[in-house]
Amino acid sequence: MVEREGEIPTPKKRKYHHNVSMSPVSGETLRRERLSLPIYPARRKIIQQVQRLDTVILIGETGSGKTTQIPQYLMEAGFGKVGTVACTQPRRVAAVTVATRVSKERGCELGAQVGYCVRFDDMTSENTKIKYMTDGMLLREAIGDPLLKRYSVVILDEAHERTIQTDILFGVVKAAQKRRKESNHRPLKVIVMSATMDVDHFSQYFNRAPVLYLEGRQHPVKVMYTREPQEDYIYAALVTVFQLHQEAPPQEDVLVFLTGQEEIETLARTMRDIAHHCPSDAPGMVVRPLYAALPPAAQLKAFEAAPTGTRKVILATNIAETSVTIKGIKHVVDTAMVKQRLFRPTSGLDSLVVKKVSKAQAWQRTGRAGRESSGTCYRLLTEEEFDQLSPTTIPEIQRVNLASVVLQLLALRIHDIMEFDFMDKPTRESLLTAMQQLHLLGAVEKQQQVQLTPLGRMMAAFPLDPRFAKVILAAKDHHCTEEILTIVAMLSVDSVLFTPASKRELAAAVRRKFMSEEGDHIMLLNIYRAFKAVKGNRQWCQENFVNSRNVSNAMDIRGQLRDLCQRLQIPLESAGQDTAVIRTCLAKGLFMNAAELQRGGEYITVETRQPVAIHPSSCLFQCKPAYVIFSELVQTTKCYMRDLSVVDQRWLQEAAPNYFKQDRT
Ligand code: ADP
Ligand code: MG
Repeated sequence: MVEREGEIPTPKKRKYHHNVSMSPVSGETLRRERLSLPIYPARRKIIQQVQRLDTVILIGETGSGKTTQIPQYLMEAGFGKVGTVACTQPRRVAAVTVATRVSKERGCELGAQVGYCVRFDDMTSENTKIKYMTDGMLLREAIGDPLLKRYSVVILDEAHERTIQTDILFGVVKAAQKRRKESNHRPLKVIVMSATMDVDHFSQYFNRAPVLYLEGRQHPVKVMYTREPQEDYIYAALVTVFQLHQEAPPQEDVLVFLTGQEEIETLARTMRDIAHHCPSDAPGMVVRPLYAALPPAAQLKAFEAAPTGTRKVILATNIAETSVTIKGIKHVVDTAMVKQRLFRPTSGLDSLVVKKVSKAQAWQRTGRAGRESSGTCYRLLTEEEFDQLSPTTIPEIQRVNLASVVLQLLALRIHDIMEFDFMDKPTRESLLTAMQQLHLLGAVEKQQQVQLTPLGRMMAAFPLDPRFAKVILAAKDHHCTEEILTIVAMLSVDSVLFTPASKRELAAAVRRKFMSEEGDHIMLLNIYRAFKAVKGNRQWCQENFVNSRNVSNAMDIRGQLRDLCQRLQIPLESAGQDTAVIRTCLAKGLFMNAAELQRGGEYITVETRQPVAIHPSSCLFQCKPAYVIFSELVQTTKCYMRDLSVVDQRWLQEAAPNYFKQDRT
């Protein structure tokens, strides 16, 4: 095994693919738009503050121009000459759309002066002065370059979101700043930007850095509640949108907040269907989805104006809460729901849970309706229900599995995890659980101090959950990387199959040919192979209810993972007909996600004896294998296991002998 100290797994470089041709008119319009943003009058003050101080905290309403303008102001003030200006975003979509917008504003090609870098996609060049990137990408760079030497300014945007990556970055950037100062290096300027007022915390953390408040331009928004509690928030959203569609003038666009891709795509189809059957004198409607997994080109469609006389309805996840600004929104329909990753101390696992938003989130969503003029926000709950929402959202670091955080901290050579300068410290217990999981995965060892094993160091090179990184490295020993890369890539994208409500039976029948008695992971492999054999043929995808966009994304990701393997000298080999070996590898990483069948036909997780059920979408739904592993838990009416494989009890024991010490059967 080759140990590669400090290697940064940079995503593959891409050729410039966006051809931004500028007409003089749009250039002029964009210039005028820049000058009319609420942030513009504060330009000089902001530049002065950044020149004078190490750290500045900036608060401003969503849409005031923070993300698009500040990096440009700083570059124009000369900060681009001594290094790059980085602006981190919690979300890929935001990094991509904002970089696209800013390159247009500057009339340059995307990837030249202005670029972005997100997992699996690098659109920057030697000349890039303004780099929008996900917080995760900057963290990865910090592994190879803890002083972040190539940057003159690091802007931590959307700080109020408090994603895990941002939270770690706070500590990493603060340390880099201090060390650069001590070693007489060029200073590192840090700017923390947030859309919410609750910033004392940030200021305290950054040695009482001053806070600049930008004047907002928020118009009044009328908030409406439902009379009765709504059982089905998706249906309630549908009804509300069509009521609005009948009553409001067609130029007034609507933004609907939902929780995820599947829900959004299903509702989009239903809405288009209904709009299609509206009387011909009714105004037209275009429905635009917006969620993280949507490819950039499709995301940008949500930002385009609808034709005159047509209403645009955007169905978005909480992406549209603060990270991106869409013009023309006059009405917000808020289901008040959000999908969150949640750690269950009882099971030691994360699961995706759809839950109610916090009041702070609900108010952010409401604000989206008052950007250009007064608007309306329809909250799909009663006022009493709203009053019971929790005031703020708990930072992610305090609610998810920290295994990948700890892995990254160790890769950054931060050994004393308990002493890391967290803005809000996770509980000792959750850090210990994470450490224990990494230990079980063989990623850490304790010498004088806790440190990564050579295996752990390789795991840290993969931008994946440590369990899946382990699966890939296990595949190396079992000579089946080809298949495992495909499966991991397919698991990294949203659902590759879709089921139209009207064709449920047909879809189920067609799907049978992909299914496998061995489980969903092998089915994913079958789908990928079939897709490749027909070269992603459109009609084939339609007929087989395969979401070609998501499978194409998976192909892309697979390519990136393959490159990474090659760099780490992991050979690409195929298992041929031997699918059991593939499942053995999966067990090597997923043994903590194992469940066993009980006499009554129910399943419980092996470790914590928690009742779980097979998700109805699984190939194993009708089967009752004695042992299964699964990729994730989804909590709805029950706790469901999703993406399962049949495993042998022996494999689990072999994967982690210490973990399964006691025989419980
Ligand atoms: P903030 O970061 O303060 O929320 P932004 O810098 O993202 O604000 O946006 C400022 C303004 O720039 C928005 O109000 C909008 O008018 C415009 N804008 C931003 N992104 C786009 C885009 N992709 N397409 C068109 N206009 C955009
Ligand atoms: Mg912003």
